[in-house]
Amino acid sequence: MDLVEFQGKQLFGRNGVPVPPAGTACRSVSEVEDAARSHLEDGTAAVMVKAQVKTGGRGKAGGVKYCPTLEAAVEAAESIIGLDIKGHEVRVVWVEPASDIAEEYYLSVMHDRVSKGELIICSVEGGVDIEEVNRTNPEAVVKRTVAPSEREHGLPREIADEIIAQARFPEEVRDQAADLLVKLFAAYLAEDATLAEINPLIRTEDDRIIALDSKVTLDDNAAFRHDGYDEWKIEGLDADDPLEAEAKAKGIQYVKLDGHVGVLGNGAGLVMATLDVVAQNGGRAANFLDVGGGASADAMAESLGLVLSDPNVKSVFINIFGGITRGEEVAGGIVEATKRLGDFPQKLVVRLDGTNAEEGRRILEQADLPNVVSKPTMQEAAAEAVRLASA
Ligand code: GDP
Ligand code: MG
Repeated sequence: MDLVEFQGKQLFGRNGVPVPPAGTACRSVSEVEDAARSHLEDGTAAVMVKAQVKTGGRGKAGGVKYCPTLEAAVEAAESIIGLDIKGHEVRVVWVEPASDIAEEYYLSVMHDRVSKGELIICSVEGGVDIEEVNRTNPEAVVKRTVAPSEREHGLPREIADEIIAQARFPEEVRDQAADLLVKLFAAYLAEDATLAEINPLIRTEDDRIIALDSKVTLDDNAAFRHDGYDEWKIEGLDADDPLEAEAKAKGIQYVKLDGHVGVLGNGAGLVMATLDVVAQNGGRAANFLDVGGGASADAMAESLGLVLSDPNVKSVFINIFGGITRGEEVAGGIVEATKRLGDFPQKLVVRLDGTNAEEGRRILEQADLPNVVSKPTMQEAAAEAVRLASA
């Protein structure tokens, strides 16, 4: 689960990582106006109005504004709320007292699947795209992997000191930066994060080191240890695609994509391969859908109904490899599903292989369904589905 910036900073704050003074999450211009007024009356020189969307580069997209007056804050709210940032519509903005920035650094902790440890990345060249710094000035980016055996009691202070010194942090703030890194690492572990990134980590005009931005991903597999991460759910923040929401409610493994060939298969690996073979034949899949084992008539009807209700879908490729689920059961499921769904304009291209595939194909043939075309191989079925989708 990805957090938005202000949630990430709240998570940092409760783990002792220094962050700016608390701000306010707002959904409307008038809420921003009230929040900005109260911060400005408290004596802060300016407020920041910041889009809360689950993507980076908000500043470049006009989603982060420095506002020295109430009027500027209202204007910022008007331009940011509803703004589209890389396909994410801004529904929530965060208003916080602006910090005075002397320098911008970069610091992150993330899980490294290769070494099965945690990777710490640190640079005094922060604020900007770290990949870019890594390309143009790789010596400025320090990377250190921490093995599980090294961090039994958290990140040892010596390692933090080493990383901060190696990154050439200014002498006078090294202590604070190392302290912050130890706390960031502890937060990462305690909250079951897989990523905790601060860009920029800033040095203020009065030499304090604080996390000005955050990008935090929590491990979904650890949700059960944190009450399902309910505390981080924000109503309507990143609304699910309506079809994905329906799929979730029905317990169907469905991901909406942007092509025209609906895809339905049994087993995640086979469905992934199906997306590839559709692409190899010059088409684009409209979705990922794994009907799972069983593929009963019920599951088939529900799944097929979902795929067909996407208006982009022009043809459907049903790719089944019978294992424990036998071919005749799957074929029966398809026949039953098409009966239940009634009339629909799209053609279904079925590739049935594996256990009792011939029996299954015979059932499909006998049923003589006008919308169903049967093909013996994955390649032929993909080509036909792509052809039908572009016809
Ligand atoms: P991002 O563009 O999505 O990474 O959003 P950030 O939170 O990193 O903000 C983008 C940039 O806005 C930062 O790199 C800062 O230069 C600037 N910025 C953000 N917050 C403040 C602040 O409190 N004070 C000042 N002066 N600038 C800020
Ligand atoms: Mg940033």
